[in-house]
Amino acid sequence: MPNRKYADGEVVMGRWPGSVLYYEVQVTSYDDASHLYTVKYKDGTELALKESDIRSQSSFKQRKSQSSSSSPSRRSRSRSRSRSPGRPAKGRRRSSSHSREHKDDKKKIIQETTLALPKPSENNTRRYNGEPDSTERNDTSSKLLEQQKLKPDVEVERVLDQYSLRSRREEKKKEEIYAEKKIFETIKITEKPSSKTKELEFGGRFGTFTLIFLLPATVLYLLLMCKQDDPSLMNFPPPLPTLESLWEAKVFGVFLLWFFFQALFYLLPIGKVVEGLPLSNGRKLQYRINGFYAFVLTAAAIGTLLYFQFELHYLYDHFIQFAVSAAAFSMVLSIYLYIRSLKAPEEDLAPGGNSGYLVYDFFTGHELNPRIGSFDLKYFCELRPGLIGWVVINLAMLLAEMKIHNQSMPSLSMILVNSFQLLYVVDALWNEEAVLTTMDIIHDGFGFMLAFGDLVWVPFVYSLQAFYLVGHPIAISWPTAAAITILNCIGYYIFRSANSQKNNFRRNPADPKLSYLKVIPTATGKGLLVTGWWGFVRHPNYLGDIIMALAWSLPCGFNHILPYFYVIYFICLLVHREARDEHHCKKKYGLAWERYCQRVPYRIFPYIY
Ligand code: NDP
Repeated sequence: MPNRKYADGEVVMGRWPGSVLYYEVQVTSYDDASHLYTVKYKDGTELALKESDIRSQSSFKQRKSQSSSSSPSRRSRSRSRSRSPGRPAKGRRRSSSHSREHKDDKKKIIQETTLALPKPSENNTRRYNGEPDSTERNDTSSKLLEQQKLKPDVEVERVLDQYSLRSRREEKKKEEIYAEKKIFETIKITEKPSSKTKELEFGGRFGTFTLIFLLPATVLYLLLMCKQDDPSLMNFPPPLPTLESLWEAKVFGVFLLWFFFQALFYLLPIGKVVEGLPLSNGRKLQYRINGFYAFVLTAAAIGTLLYFQFELHYLYDHFIQFAVSAAAFSMVLSIYLYIRSLKAPEEDLAPGGNSGYLVYDFFTGHELNPRIGSFDLKYFCELRPGLIGWVVINLAMLLAEMKIHNQSMPSLSMILVNSFQLLYVVDALWNEEAVLTTMDIIHDGFGFMLAFGDLVWVPFVYSLQAFYLVGHPIAISWPTAAAITILNCIGYYIFRSANSQKNNFRRNPADPKLSYLKVIPTATGKGLLVTGWWGFVRHPNYLGDIIMALAWSLPCGFNHILPYFYVIYFICLLVHREARDEHHCKKKYGLAWERYCQRVPYRIFPYIY
């Protein structure tokens, strides 16, 4: 017999975490290992609850009817006492006379009016779970938060009158809880760190197992294709090189040197230290913002090497070997990350990478923020070795093109590709702080997916256009170059302003500069922007990114589809990523998110998708 009291599909009363409120929920599943029930609230929010936080509906109905048999005068007194958010202290209340209560009642009525409470008949669960009655302007966001703090106090009491589990003897205790206003402050929808990941992404265990082999194979084939004289689809697959030719110890040594130099730059005590967003346990990690300095130091180092006649096209000559070295390194790093994650406390595990399946957790990342002392491995890999490495690779391709084709100047196509991608990287490093509110940092663990993505995929696949141009030069006219540049600027403008708008809003919702924006409040205390870029489509930053991706491929002409791999892959990646984020947001914000989707129906592409 399963060791559980409630069956899947059963409608029960579930306690709202951190509160004494019970709402009608439906049991969706039960985890034998953690003994947690996954329950669904009426607004769509799903949470994992302990059995002790669940009651049968009948126990509530009983008590409710008991309470309704109590005298109306007592009920009204009790209700008005706890309804007021600003009610007097306990001692005073106890000694209060009838007239005093009368006065208090009057005061409470006034307070209720100012708080503009919903009618008693309203569905309290709906309100309480953050479903807004209307969209609020952001200049009232602080007021709004105040109201959110106060309103539930009043509503809490109303809900309790319906669903109270306490006996009359416990009324006093109830008052104390309200007097301290603890309830609403402790209510937060968080993804329970201790709960197992039930919904597997990326095709589950089979999908992630396949991807561990498919991703490195894709990189290898792309690079081999690019090396061919005619990289058309007709020539796929390219001939495979011997295993020995893929590996060179010196190349691996150079890669290690690069990685550790970047680590050294990361450790330099320059740049401000900022706090990340609160983790599920409320803790905030500190991050040093010195990515741009690392870039400047790297540029100075590369400049010095070039000055002393260092042949940077060594990178081009051994490009595939570098990619293999980076892949080997990312595999070793992922194994290390997985092994250390087995000893990590439950609360440090990634909500999406804690399935209990080795391959799945290894791929998606078991630990959310693995650190060695204050050295944050994920944050470091996210923007430094791979991203700065991408720019260095592009520069190496530019020099290789000049050398191979005996040019005194790089081609216009090569200049465009290099400049556009340089802008993208410099922008990411200049706005390094913004990475702290991205999915990679706040949701995804650090495993093979991000390690391989940051260290191999980004530098070696994103530089494909420059690599392609070395072997397949394209001459483009100035007007074409101007048109492509305008396209890139449009993409960049959308990408940057959308990301900054969200990042600034998340960091300071009361920022006067954002006061013109409208916001849908949610139960978590965070708002959802519903005008500005985030009111245009649901992921405007992805739209901008995709436009830029197209601008990066266009300078390569239309002879082959290979340089368009990036934009095709990127659309697939962002459409999938958007769906993942949508799913997470729906879970986090419930009805408030649905409302946002109604207001902003397009996900990435206006009028299309
Ligand atoms: P986003 O920066 O788009 O963050 C998504 C989060 O934003 C949501 O989870 C939600 O989090 C918040 N959010 C969503 N809607 C709203 C709203 N209306 N108002 C306020 N907050 C909202 O996610 P990514 O990390 O995927 O992307 C960051 C950038 O990185 C993008 O520009 C993307 O294009 C780029 N990128 C680039 C890649 C590359 O390889 N070049 C790969 C992946 C991404 P919450 O509410 O919890 O704050």
